[in-house]
Amino acid sequence: MSDKDPPNPFEEIQRQLSELFKDSNVKVSTNSFAESDFFTDESSNSPDGPLQNEAVSETDPLELIRHFKLKPKEVRDHLNRFVIRQDEAKKVLSVAICDHYNHVRQTLSAEKTLAKEYSKQNILLLGPTGVGKTYLIKNIARLIGVPFVKADATKFSETGYVGSDVEDLVRDLVKAADGSVELAEHGIIFVDEIDKIASEAGAGGRDVSGRGVQINLLKLMEETEVNLFSPTDMMAQMQAAMEIQRGNAPQRKSINTRNILFIVSGAFDKLSESIKKRLNQSQMGFGAAPHDDDEDLSSYLKYAETTDFTKYGFEPEFIGRVPVRVACRALSSEDLAHILTTSEGSILNQYHDDFNGYGIEFDITAKAILSIAQKASEEGTGARGLMTVLERLFRDFKFELPSSAIKRFDVTTEMIKDPLSTLKELEAKNAHLQQDVWRTDIKRFAANFEQQFNFTLEFKPLAEQALIQEALTTDATIQSICERKFRYFEQGLSIIHRNSGQTVFKLGKLAIEDPDRELSKWVVRSVEHARDHS
Ligand code: ADP
Repeated sequence: MSDKDPPNPFEEIQRQLSELFKDSNVKVSTNSFAESDFFTDESSNSPDGPLQNEAVSETDPLELIRHFKLKPKEVRDHLNRFVIRQDEAKKVLSVAICDHYNHVRQTLSAEKTLAKEYSKQNILLLGPTGVGKTYLIKNIARLIGVPFVKADATKFSETGYVGSDVEDLVRDLVKAADGSVELAEHGIIFVDEIDKIASEAGAGGRDVSGRGVQINLLKLMEETEVNLFSPTDMMAQMQAAMEIQRGNAPQRKSINTRNILFIVSGAFDKLSESIKKRLNQSQMGFGAAPHDDDEDLSSYLKYAETTDFTKYGFEPEFIGRVPVRVACRALSSEDLAHILTTSEGSILNQYHDDFNGYGIEFDITAKAILSIAQKASEEGTGARGLMTVLERLFRDFKFELPSSAIKRFDVTTEMIKDPLSTLKELEAKNAHLQQDVWRTDIKRFAANFEQQFNFTLEFKPLAEQALIQEALTTDATIQSICERKFRYFEQGLSIIHRNSGQTVFKLGKLAIEDPDRELSKWVVRSVEHARDHS
């Protein structure tokens, strides 16, 4: 340790807590916090402790798992509602998930004694980005009613001091389970970009750390107890201690990973190349290479074997703990079109909802769908490309339409080619209605003003016209124009009210052109009025 090394976090926490609780009865352990008697099971009798979960059944958070009775085809059918293609992945995942939760159910029930040696069905999902790997698992977790967390393998460091600690994943699962440790113990952890922590033989640098992260993950995947409070997270330690101080001690101090299902995933670009090479070589020998029409390299991932992964840089023990392996395929532009039109989770639904929030509707033509899918496909990011293309397409519409009179529009191939021109045309066509929108905005401003200050502002037609003209030329909203013009009105009108009792004020064109001058004039007049009547 050099002089510059940070102080031992345990000692630092203990010092701060001792300080915090020096006048109280709380005892601060002098041992490592992980072993402190703060977190023993006996330390809490409170049923309403901080780790109780309100969302899940108070009595039994595992109720759904205890009654798990789905069959693989039912899981597949559920996935079909949301995820397009990936049939092989759906099949393999459905079986693995049903096996896993059937096993968990058995261990939870009286059948416990029946459950003998069991290898967990941890899963390796291969495939390019944006093809539904995470989406499949998210939907499965939702279907089963278990918490789900996802993180990139690259953010972890071996020690947890530089990056995050893999154990944080387990603690995050407790958060995702609204604090229910029991439920978290049956959740799903998804680690993406796992291919990035493979340590290719002979390479240096982060590979050492990558190997360390693999080993750490391995421990989690097997079975281990993870402390509920990160030893390096001072805030968590402090909060836990304070909860105890308040008499809300957590019932558990650690979480067991035995029944947590791990899914690791990655694009494995380079692996595809080496598998292709291997297959081509064997084809030269035996003519046995699979025939693939696909030019797409990722289509080779489905032929990956254990040795491919160890050669790629995975520890044999690690890859051995992920017995279920399946590849997701790249999505064609037809698949992307299909996602838009048939997936229950289609991003297009979100846009419909967003516009609906302003009372706006849109129709989309079949050709437009194909054109969007084509553009998205060119992005090379799978279904994520759809989001990019749609965001660009709707950007100006989302900004302009809520403040306009336009209540419906069509998404066509012309619009996709040039959204901004289409928008301008639409606005020109509806220009005559825009006046009404602005008038309504003026009324809204006056109503708010009245509600806030008890003064009625009546805008005469010429005043309205002047405001509208200004909105048109400056592209500012009526609200912001009025706020700026009438910023001294509350004060001025209060003086007038004191002098004359007046509460209703008619605003003409002059009040828009030079509001401060007009207001001063009114104030002077009210002073004269008061003098005349005194
Ligand atoms: P990745 O394969 O990189 O994990 P995701 O599953 O996160 O990609 O996909 C990103 C988003 O794209 C999802 O949330 C979903 O909306 C959409 N998506 C991806 N693949 C599909 C698919 N096969 N069917 C339907 N939607 C999909």
